[in-house]
Amino acid sequence: MDLNYAPEDLAFRDTVRSWIAANLPADLQQKVLNHKRLVRDDYVRWHRIVHRQGWVAPNWPVEYGGTGWSKVQQHIWEEECARAGTPPILPFGVNMVAPVLIAFGSDAQKRHYLPRILSCEDWWCQGYSEPGAGSDLASLKTRAQRDGDHYIVNGQKTWTTLGQHADMMFCLVRTDADARKQEGISFLLIDMKSPGITVRPIITLDEDHEVNEVFFDNVRVPVANLVGEENRGWTYAKYLLGHERTGIAAVGRSKRELAFLKGFAARMQKDGRPLIFDPLFSAKVAALEIELMALEVTVLRVISQEARRKAPGPEASMLKVKGTEVQQRITELMVEAAGPLALPFDVAFLEGEAAHSSADDDAAPLLPYYFNYRKTSIYGGSNEIQKNIITQMILGL
Ligand SMILES: Cc1cc2nc3c(=O)[nH]c(=O)nc-3n(C[C@H](O)[C@H](O)[C@H](O)COP(=O)(O)OP(=O)(O)OC[C@H]3O[C@@H](n4cnc5c(N)ncnc54)[C@H](O)[C@@H]3O)c2cc1C
Repeated sequence: MDLNYAPEDLAFRDTVRSWIAANLPADLQQKVLNHKRLVRDDYVRWHRIVHRQGWVAPNWPVEYGGTGWSKVQQHIWEEECARAGTPPILPFGVNMVAPVLIAFGSDAQKRHYLPRILSCEDWWCQGYSEPGAGSDLASLKTRAQRDGDHYIVNGQKTWTTLGQHADMMFCLVRTDADARKQEGISFLLIDMKSPGITVRPIITLDEDHEVNEVFFDNVRVPVANLVGEENRGWTYAKYLLGHERTGIAAVGRSKRELAFLKGFAARMQKDGRPLIFDPLFSAKVAALEIELMALEVTVLRVISQEARRKAPGPEASMLKVKGTEVQQRITELMVEAAGPLALPFDVAFLEGEAAHSSADDDAAPLLPYYFNYRKTSIYGGSNEIQKNIITQMILGL
């Protein structure tokens, strides 16, 4: 296994780095680097800039609009975006529903939805989790009953990320209540403007509106919006979850945030000298950096295997657990470095309505950022569930 970059990959890195530098709007970059909140238009604006360059869906087959980049080049692109501080390309359309449509959708579905995902004409959300069906997803109860050429959908989804902006939801519904629980599930594409849908905000610890509850009250969904076969949705759902974990280690972003932490701790004072020179604090930063370097090598190992066409298996669980632990640890040390300066909660500053915070501009967003990142060990399959996978599939317990 060769973990060094080939000369053509290094040249590729230069190309994408220059392109990002020339095309990333400064206001978006400042928001991301300074831990400010992004709004719908921020995501859409960056998505469309990348789309115009033809780079929005590197993981798709070229015939549908993919870039033809190798796995290593896709990794370099993600790393360069993280390094520069671009808004993320949201995963729900490009990385989640699109691979399912490409693998299992009808020609009509591919023709209609894939170009709209590329251009961000449709904003997608993920309707998997329900109250009582998170880790145990197959227990989901939202019903879809056939009525002529429609399904009638009743039930509730929860934790629907950015569903308040969504045009479309890919949704798991129960179409056979009598079958074994994995066997009676179907995969439906639901227009979020359909009568009978109610979206209610869930306000998280950081007082942000990122997730929602979605209620379905006799919602009519055309049968043409069924993906693949009825009652085979579990197969498609699992296929999608495999794609969800790709990139979840977020090494590039953690490297950027670690650099921020070091710079910030160099500015904070303890006992009359910069905090970064405090032996206890610097030992914590060094331990974290070692974890991050080990994680990066693990990511490169997985990519190197993927390049030889070996799909990532339980290694993806290791990346999820370690990646999110590192992300959360960075936010903990940020708050520790900020101390009391992290306390003022300044929504106007976070949302860009005020140019400056009432205290320190760098410190003000750190506590909301810390709270927000508690989510990472829960979503995408909780870390406890990933550890179950590791114990079974890697340790054979
Ligand atoms: C910020 C955020 C955004 C999300 N976005 C979406 C979204 O857009 N769409 C969507 O469908 N879902 C979304 N989710 C839901 C997410 O997938 C679930 O929260 C996750 O699967 C856990 O399910 P749960 O919350 O029901 O917890 P539960 O499954 O009830 O788990 C509760 C606790 O028990 C532990 N646990 C459960 N079972 C086991 C077990 N067998 N062994 C050991 N420990 C176990 C869990 O690890 C957890 O700590 C989001 C969640 C969050 C926090």
